[in-house]
Amino acid sequence: MPYEVTATKRRPKTFDELAGQEFVAATLKNSLESGKIAHAYLFSGPRGCGKTSAARILARALRCEKGPTANPCGTCAQCQEISRGASMDVLEIDGATNTGVNDARQIKEEVLFPPSSGRYKVYIIDEVHMLSNSAFNALLKTIEEPPPNVVFIFATTELQKVPATIRSRCQQFNFRLISVETITALLRNACNEMGIQAEDEALFWIARESTGSCRDAYTLFDQVLSFSDGNIRTALIRQKLGLVGLDKLNEFAEACAAANLGLSLSLIDDLLSSGVAAETFIADLAGYYHSLLLLKAGVTREALLGYPPSRFSNVVLEKYDAIRLERAGELLYVLYRDVRYSVSPRFELETLASKLCWLEKWISPPELADAAAQARKALGGTSRPLSDGDSPETTDTGEFPRQTSSPPETVDASGGAGSLAAQFNRYMAEKTNTRQVPGERRQTAAPAPVSASDTSIGDASIGDANIAVASTADACIADACAADANPAGASNQETEVDPAVQKVLEVFQGTIVEESRK
Ligand SMILES: [Zn+2]
Repeated sequence: MPYEVTATKRRPKTFDELAGQEFVAATLKNSLESGKIAHAYLFSGPRGCGKTSAARILARALRCEKGPTANPCGTCAQCQEISRGASMDVLEIDGATNTGVNDARQIKEEVLFPPSSGRYKVYIIDEVHMLSNSAFNALLKTIEEPPPNVVFIFATTELQKVPATIRSRCQQFNFRLISVETITALLRNACNEMGIQAEDEALFWIARESTGSCRDAYTLFDQVLSFSDGNIRTALIRQKLGLVGLDKLNEFAEACAAANLGLSLSLIDDLLSSGVAAETFIADLAGYYHSLLLLKAGVTREALLGYPPSRFSNVVLEKYDAIRLERAGELLYVLYRDVRYSVSPRFELETLASKLCWLEKWISPPELADAAAQARKALGGTSRPLSDGDSPETTDTGEFPRQTSSPPETVDASGGAGSLAAQFNRYMAEKTNTRQVPGERRQTAAPAPVSASDTSIGDASIGDANIAVASTADACIADACAADANPAGASNQETEVDPAVQKVLEVFQGTIVEESRK
């Protein structure tokens, strides 16, 4: 007997076997049982989810010697002919190659002849959206009022390309992607039937890779089977197909969480040396952080996570909050898109490892804006940048009135060189370009007992700060500086640090230093 691929061998033959399309199967069965048979059906949905199979089952149900029946016998001559694809009265037409108006005209003429045997003549037109407009138009009348006992079944993966005039003349059925659980169960059945050993995780992986398409799952299953020698194992799949695997992902993410760049680089080297493509690793890592994000949100469904929740590293999960995990995913998605244009995917990957190693310290723009807003409140600032000669007290809305005892002086923060916002931006630019020598006096326009200019800020934070300043926190930070520069604002004496100021210092990793007044 010639070799038959699993997808063909296990093609469903009854409505009950139509996996994952329970609604479609039930509706078709009901209409067959009640004898309400439409003259045109339109099956739409993603590839490999059972449209053509359903069309053949429907053809068999209509033509079975015991039919029309919801449960075709599968043994009569009619049923068997259809199974073999040898029926003269069930015509399968590929819409992708018979696209012209002449093909449609031919169908139009043929339908006038009654079926050579049996009750129904069935036309199954696959990929019907590929028909040309004129072909559709030529068929319109035939579809609307076909001769008795002619049934059209159209299948398409792109419903939106089928003209509304055709759609309105058909009974429509939307086929869905098949769930990972259902596909895993189908694969397990196939293994049992064929006497094959298989690890659950391996079948689960195949089901996930097939992204809801039963045919894709069986095709991959055949491929895996070809090198598995009757025993499907995850480790072997990983080795043969150059996959990463959860253990390696956990290991890498833990190294990054511990900020151990050396270890993470050596893990990358191991993986690439073992034949894993950089793109594969990036995609798997993106999926990994995505799963962690889902776990953070309380999702525990294995089909969504890809693995049982208990298999993900708790170390990594506890290390990061959702914002950091989201950032990791974002870095990886961007890298996956860009890596194909990269001079060296390996370098890109190593740079990414470095970024992931300080992921914990990354500050999102909203967090920075929040911190700046808190600073503004704490220091009694205003909601808009101060311009020359503005007094903070005129628009003071802060929650921490630190200046109640001594009214703020008018801030002359300009130093003859523009607004405080500009001054702050100038400071930032300067900070990026030059590192200040400790102890060196900076020539600030206004004396500052608690000076933001002397806080040490990492380069990356400066980048983020600049973005935030430009987009969201310009006014807030400028206000913070304004109040900061106000000699009456903060006392020169050693006092307890305000909690909000403390927060700002944490965010910017700064320290309070004293600077002598002019
Ligand atoms: Zn039959």
